[in-house]
Order: sequence, then structure tokens, then C-alpha cells
Amino acid sequence: MNRLWAPWRMKYIKETIDKRNNSCFLCEAYKNRDQSESLVVASFNHTFVVLNKFPYNNGHLMIVPIMHTGAIGNLDKETKLELMNVIELSTNVLREKMNAEGFNIGINLGRIAGAGVPEHLHIHVVPRWNGDTNYMPVISDTKVISQGLQEAYEIIKEGFEEVKGGV
Ligand SMILES: [Zn+2]
Repeated sequence: MNRLWAPWRMKYIKETIDKRNNSCFLCEAYKNRDQSESLVVASFNHTFVVLNKFPYNNGHLMIVPIMHTGAIGNLDKETKLELMNVIELSTNVLREKMNAEGFNIGINLGRIAGAGVPEHLHIHVVPRWNGDTNYMPVISDTKVISQGLQEAYEIIKEGFEEVKGGV
């Protein structure tokens, strides 16, 4: 994967360090999932989908098991199956609503692997467009990014509402 220039991630790293001893922000987001600031775009029986506040790219989603655990082995079969189905659904929504042309999908397992929240595992779905590594520096002003976040939230939430029967 080509590295995207993402200076706002410094704020994320700092906030993660500041909040290391506080409650889990993924569990908090799930509890507040009907409020737009939680950025939860969809929830299912065992999983939910939240927009990353500090994205590598516009529309960067995290697919999260509702169960607070850092270990894949703690998840039951239904949850594992639903995670995979929701990955598919997420790519469909991002393709449909944001014209995504490709995706980077992955899990950072453990802090050593770069997990910001190692105690609650989550799968990153990062949409990609042809040339995005070139134009990202041009639009990486913080204000532009935060406006983009609310816009992406509305569009993606609507996309999930349209396809939600799929899981
Ligand atoms: Zn949690």
C-alpha cells in the first residue's frame, strides 16, 4: 500500500495516548450510536460500523464486533461470519455512494502491529481511488477533512439503510 500523507493522525496518536487509561471509545460509540457525533453508520446483531474520525482516506470505516475483546478467538462463529458479511456490505456501500475503486482491508492485532485500541479489535476498510495518494496532500487541511467527515457520515449511513437487509 502506498503511504497516504495523513498529518491529522498525529492528533489521533496524541489523543490515544491521553485516553489510554480511560474507557473504550468503540464501546462508547456503540452506546451512543443514534447520535451523529458517534459516527456509527450501521449496526447489526453482533457488529457495528463506525467512520474513523482520523481517516487514512475519506470514507475510512471500521467494522467492530459489539463484544469488547482484543482476541479473534473470543468471537463466536456468528460474529465472525457477520464481520465478513459486513465487510462485503461496506465495500458495496462505498462503491455505490463514493465511487470507491478499490479497498485496503485489514486488522492491526496488538499495539506492536499499530493497533490504536488493541483491547477492542476492529477491521479497517479504507476506500481507494486512482490517484488518491497524489491528491490527498492537496486536500489535507484539517477543516476540509472535518467537513468531509460529516458529509461522508450522512452519505454512508444512507447507503447502509438502503442495503441493510443484506446481513
Ligand atoms: Zn470496547
